[in-house]
Amino acid sequence: MGVSNELQKNFTEVVPALKSKEAIDEANRCLYCYDAPCIKACPTSIDIPSFIQKIATGNLRGSARTIMDSNPVGASCARVCPTEELCEGACVLNHASKPIIIGLLQRHATDWAIKNNATLFTKGEDNGKRVAIVGAGPAGLSAARELARFGYQVTVFEAKEKAGGLNTYGIVSFRLPQEISLWEVEQIEALGVEIRTNTCIGVDVQPEELLAGYDSVLLAIGMGSVPNLQIAGEDLIGVLDAITLVEDTKTKPLTDEMVGKKVVVIGAGNTAIDAATCSKRMGAENVQILYRRTEQEMSCYQFEYEFAKQDGVEFRWLVAPARIIGENGRVKGLELVRMELGEPDAKGRKRPVPIPDSEFVTEVDYVIKAIGQMRHHSLIEAFGIENKNGVVKVEDDTYRTSHAKIFAAGDVIFGGGKTDAMVVDAANHGKRAAYAIHRALSDEKQPV
Ligand code: SF4
Repeated sequence: MGVSNELQKNFTEVVPALKSKEAIDEANRCLYCYDAPCIKACPTSIDIPSFIQKIATGNLRGSARTIMDSNPVGASCARVCPTEELCEGACVLNHASKPIIIGLLQRHATDWAIKNNATLFTKGEDNGKRVAIVGAGPAGLSAARELARFGYQVTVFEAKEKAGGLNTYGIVSFRLPQEISLWEVEQIEALGVEIRTNTCIGVDVQPEELLAGYDSVLLAIGMGSVPNLQIAGEDLIGVLDAITLVEDTKTKPLTDEMVGKKVVVIGAGNTAIDAATCSKRMGAENVQILYRRTEQEMSCYQFEYEFAKQDGVEFRWLVAPARIIGENGRVKGLELVRMELGEPDAKGRKRPVPIPDSEFVTEVDYVIKAIGQMRHHSLIEAFGIENKNGVVKVEDDTYRTSHAKIFAAGDVIFGGGKTDAMVVDAANHGKRAAYAIHRALSDEKQPV
């Protein structure tokens, strides 16, 4: 088995941290705008000028606190937010020179807190009420943190071995090392939140037990596994799904046998990019992303696309897999069909249509599926709450489901074709759901 330090190096964080002087110089460029557009562009409304000013004055603890106060997963978001579409995209300095590098400054402050083992918050006085949260991803953790600060006894149920969800398991280490996410988890546990890992609701604990034992239940269960392509050959050795591959790179010793030499990734979202860049960094010689539409329709962030191209990932547009070809039980090739774009669908996206008799075969040894994620239908049904194809229906602003005691936040309520929300959106939902639960369980009024 080929285990090497070289591989490990390929999985260390690619974007270098700012040095102290660089951070202070950058912070001093900020205009500390009144009514700052960067705050409005942040889904969690971090007081960006305030945290930047604290960096400029050397108050890194205060800076980290400002960030994490608004966003309980602010250290992860410093690394994974599409800042050019959010805060940095809104910075007034775009018109004059170049925007403040807000993401890197946010990382500078939160890195300080991590290195100095800072505990930034304290739990509220016990109010005697109990809340169960199902799912320890960004939405569940954000809700847990806020509820603990309000004085609730919070128990988070998590099916996996560690908490953190996508941040711990689903984003490649060279963009988000696991220890960052786990520090955020520790911050939340330090407030007395109990996180029961390896605990599957519906298997180890039943929904009825939660409803009977807690004042409110928050469903923050995220998304499930990658669906099948529904083509022949999916059972062959060498067919993987992108979520499992990324998770393996974050939880198992890295080996050059995790993927082959000629890899294709089916799909063009952020997870597809992660799977493709992972494959490259594990030694695959040729990695191609295959997409049935074109560059214009792909759903990954622009910076992810650029990053993949820099890593040597190739893109093939307007092709769809028709059949995986095997030999001795292993993947040997992939039959593809060429597509063209037809009439727009209900959402306005042009529909890909197969071109007759355009099939061709390409030689590959690994096929990685990255065509979105399924929803946790059976768990949602087990709670008996209203949903549409696995998207849980909630009342606006209250995050309350059709069951008065059950609230929902994060990916489980994102619908309309949006299958994966930004981490920062999930964090915001979690926070807002916590306020809604607090309003429902107390007379105290909190911001909506
Ligand atoms: Fe600073 Fe730019 Fe935000 Fe203004 S918009 S406060 S310059 S980061």
